Amino acid sequence: MSRPTGATLTLSALRHNLRVVRQAAPNSHVWSVVKANAYGHGIARVWQSLAETDGFALLNMEEALLLREQGWKKPILLLEGFFHADELALIDRYRLTTSVHSNWQIKALATATLSAPVDIYLKINSGMNRLGFRPEQAHAAWEKLRALPNVGEITLMAHFADADNADGVTEPMQRIAQAAEGLTCPRSLANSAATLWHPQTHGDWVRPGIILYGASPSGNWQDIASTGLQPVMTLSSEIIGIQQLSPGDGVGYGYRYRASSAQRIGIVACGYADGYPRHAPTGTPVCVEGVRTRTLGAISMDMMMIDLEPCPQAGIGSRVELWGDQIKIDEVAQAAGTVGYELMCALAPRVPVTVI
Ligand SMILES: *Cc1c(COP(=O)(O)O)cnc(C)c1O
Repeated sequence: MSRPTGATLTLSALRHNLRVVRQAAPNSHVWSVVKANAYGHGIARVWQSLAETDGFALLNMEEALLLREQGWKKPILLLEGFFHADELALIDRYRLTTSVHSNWQIKALATATLSAPVDIYLKINSGMNRLGFRPEQAHAAWEKLRALPNVGEITLMAHFADADNADGVTEPMQRIAQAAEGLTCPRSLANSAATLWHPQTHGDWVRPGIILYGASPSGNWQDIASTGLQPVMTLSSEIIGIQQLSPGDGVGYGYRYRASSAQRIGIVACGYADGYPRHAPTGTPVCVEGVRTRTLGAISMDMMMIDLEPCPQAGIGSRVELWGDQIKIDEVAQAAGTVGYELMCALAPRVPVTVI
């Protein structure tokens, strides 16, 4: 048929991973995070497999409206809140929950005309210094919001900068406790790392993202090996050419790899224009018909070269897994100096996606 490169999404893995989250945080509600088009998987493709969730958390109005149009009636959380006051009309109409991280948003809520109060996530800066009110400002922000007829339930929200480290939530939890002093309201604090590794953060709603897609929040897949999480996305292609190298032969742009002895290599129809990281060095793992081997030389736009020494049976048409069950996306990301999050999100639009 056409070019053999493609991504496959295993929907049963999503359902399974949500159950892993439920087991990890049995007393909390779950916001399944589907921002960035469900971490590159496509919200429209995956949301129904996560329909057991209590709510979907995402970033922009387009994603929220897509879910409402496709029939999702339960809660939707806008993680960064509204970007302009005029979005409050849609938040009201589609019954969205919005985070509030700045005073201008409180003022906008005060003057908006809404049909019914909207639920608010009051965002506290727990030390990351990204979005949110400082702990000492939290009480005043809460008082202002509580006084507004446009505001329904208020939940305290914070995000962790370092929850993949053993003591990475200690200080942030102290700041959150300071912010919450004297306030009786629900809490939502935990991302994937905190959901897995810091049960004291779970609170009323956890907000896992990356683990739903079966990759590690720490960037190291061994950290999630014992959790039973399953990769959702497989990127695969085929060998479309073979070269027989002599000692000293160079491979690819810049001859970044040179053969030290006679060597058989395969040319795979996948490159950085498909979302494979160009920074992946020689030695990045790939899997050919079940046998692990490695990339050789620079990744091209549309192709890469791989070592066929460990798999002499491989030839034109052999299937190559770039990431998935056998090669964890975290392994590829680590080799390329990035994280699984970035690789998932960067899956290129030209790659056809099959859902199974
Ligand atoms: C992205 C995001 C999450 C999910 O993070 P993971 O590390 O993917 O679990 C949770 N909360 C907020 C505010 C986020 O922006």
